[in-house]
Amino acid sequence: MKIRVGHLYPDYLNIYADRGNIAVFAARASARGHELDVRAIGMGDAVPAGEIDLFYVGGGQDREQELVAHDLAAKSGPLRAAVEDGAAFLAVCGGYQLLGAYYRDVAGTELPGIGLLPLHTVAGERRMIGDVLLECDWAGETLAGFENHAGRTILDDGAEPLGRVVSGFGNDGASGFEGCRYQRAYGTYLHGPLLPRNPWFADRLLEEALAHAGVEERFDPLPDELEREAHDVSAARARSRGGRY
Ligand code: GLN
Repeated sequence: MKIRVGHLYPDYLNIYADRGNIAVFAARASARGHELDVRAIGMGDAVPAGEIDLFYVGGGQDREQELVAHDLAAKSGPLRAAVEDGAAFLAVCGGYQLLGAYYRDVAGTELPGIGLLPLHTVAGERRMIGDVLLECDWAGETLAGFENHAGRTILDDGAEPLGRVVSGFGNDGASGFEGCRYQRAYGTYLHGPLLPRNPWFADRLLEEALAHAGVEERFDPLPDELEREAHDVSAARARSRGGRY
């Protein structure tokens, strides 16, 4: 099966090797006999309605977010409709912030979001940097990664976080939660890139993308020794020093 991926602003929003997440999707899809068809969706590009199973957007400094925010906001209608129609979506850090109502950056400029995720973000003085470990009770799994953000993300009442912070700052360094999930859309501050050390999450997104394409499939696990080791190293680092300025 061809899994159609829409990579938003690959040339603007890509820090901490976030584009590495696409390589993980490709490798794990092909290990199950599927193929990734990746399309870049950039400035002025239309969002092909109904033709994307999985959207992806990486992180970026305030400067890059300022460059893309208004173009992305102009795409909010088709992106929200796609998620309501069952498309999967992974958004990392700066991309995650722009999926909310707005991001007020370090300079105090309010960048419009697409209002897909029930949250807003305001930059604070001190950056929240370090290793992070999350408990994802909804999946019975953990996520390990690296965060570096000035933004403090506030979830609306009733919003579903991606995980509970075991170690690290997370959304705002106070709520004890990280990320947000809505339908098959997931936002997180976790870089690394995220997916090489959290293969279960990559598989989950791929299964949901396939479901959008009309294929209900539960993947058999892959060996993943190296991935598990990378997860454990990242988790141990988070436990030993995550969440400290
Ligand atoms: N510029 C945003 C912030 O500082 C996002 C940073 C990022 O993507 N790592 O919060």
